[in-house]
Amino acid sequence: MNSAASPASPATVELSAAPGRSEAAERAAQLFEESFGYEPDGVWSAPGRVNIIGEHVDYQDGFCLPMAISHRCFAAAARTPTDRLRVRSAQDETVLDIDARTLTPEAVTGWPAYVAGVLWALRSRISGASTRGMDIMIDGQVPLGAGLSSSAALECASAEAIEALLTLSTEPLDRVRAAITAETDFAGASTGGLDQSASVLSREGHALFLDCRDFSTRPVPWDLASQGLALLITDTRAEHSHVDGEYTARRADSERAAEALGVPTLRDAEAADPAALQTLLSRIGDEVVRRRAHHVITEIQRVKDFDALLAAGSVREHVAELGALLNASHDSLREDYEVTVPHLDVAVDAARAAGAHGARMTGGGFGGSTIALVEADQAEQVASAISTAFAEQGFEAPVFFLALPSEGAGQDR
Ligand code: ADP
Ligand code: MG
Repeated sequence: MNSAASPASPATVELSAAPGRSEAAERAAQLFEESFGYEPDGVWSAPGRVNIIGEHVDYQDGFCLPMAISHRCFAAAARTPTDRLRVRSAQDETVLDIDARTLTPEAVTGWPAYVAGVLWALRSRISGASTRGMDIMIDGQVPLGAGLSSSAALECASAEAIEALLTLSTEPLDRVRAAITAETDFAGASTGGLDQSASVLSREGHALFLDCRDFSTRPVPWDLASQGLALLITDTRAEHSHVDGEYTARRADSERAAEALGVPTLRDAEAADPAALQTLLSRIGDEVVRRRAHHVITEIQRVKDFDALLAAGSVREHVAELGALLNASHDSLREDYEVTVPHLDVAVDAARAAGAHGARMTGGGFGGSTIALVEADQAEQVASAISTAFAEQGFEAPVFFLALPSEGAGQDR
């Protein structure tokens, strides 16, 4: 620990709430006009997301509970009487100008692949269109690579714009699928689909209960604002390292566990109580694999418990129990699943000590962000405590966001 940094005066922290949606949409329209020299046909947007609870269970057919955050990606766009797809971003200098009829994954590199990939994924639906040309200007508020899913926000905003410009009559789920296909098959990144579901299907004041077995969803009341509560997001700025290798290893461990228990996935390995769970887990010989299974099985149960509490009353009424579930989720990810890193643990410990109802890492781990359920009027104090703890450790200063459960993708103007 670096004790030279003095915690005597609380660090000043800046809580970045997202700029208002209509102002941001206006700005995107202006950027379009400056860039392409004429007015866009419209502006569409889609939010980033955090997963409230249900981590590392998607590939074992579990449940997740994400919510859309206030930070969105905006796509100002217009149809053109050509077959050129032209894409630009306020956040990245790379531009794309390509024949929209002959898109291939090999032909597009860098960030524009997330946009072009959506058009490519929807290609079978647009065979009848006279021309496919369009200009798209991207302006995103979701921080890139912080684990808040700027990539899904980008794909889903693009999907809304493309759907509207080409009048494709797609359903929201078709756009979720197109966004997933864009990321996995066109951009060549890996995604489980939680991000895109949350970005398209979320409702304001609600979380989204997602069943990863059949991808069915339903909104769950999660109205933080009216209850004087907020979710404090901390982008820990920790460098992601070994993420792909560790992810693959965890997946393999969880598959080994399911095999040892003789179930298709760990979703099917239910135990009535902790004693029954211990008996069940004793059938797994390998100690590490046993701990991995313990995380997945208990995490799936925690999502069910969280959901049941929200069905039984307001967030306020059950805030202590909800917070305890968040804490238990993090502890399980730290001890049983071993996907946390010091930055994540320090942020979570500091948030809890400063009075958060509960705190946990969110996303895949090995870096990224944490969330803390806090009294809205204490958010700054909790952020300040995290900031101080980071300074004491000699970590780079974290970045804070306040998030309220927001509306999924749609048209702005
Ligand atoms: P996350 O989704 O957690 O933010 P990813 O690595 O999945 O992290 O996605 C980040 C990538 O998405 C960026 O590197 C960039 O290619 C692309 N991206 C997201 N938002 C924008 C934007 N506004 N402009 C350009 N590229 C973007
Ligand atoms: Mg992403």
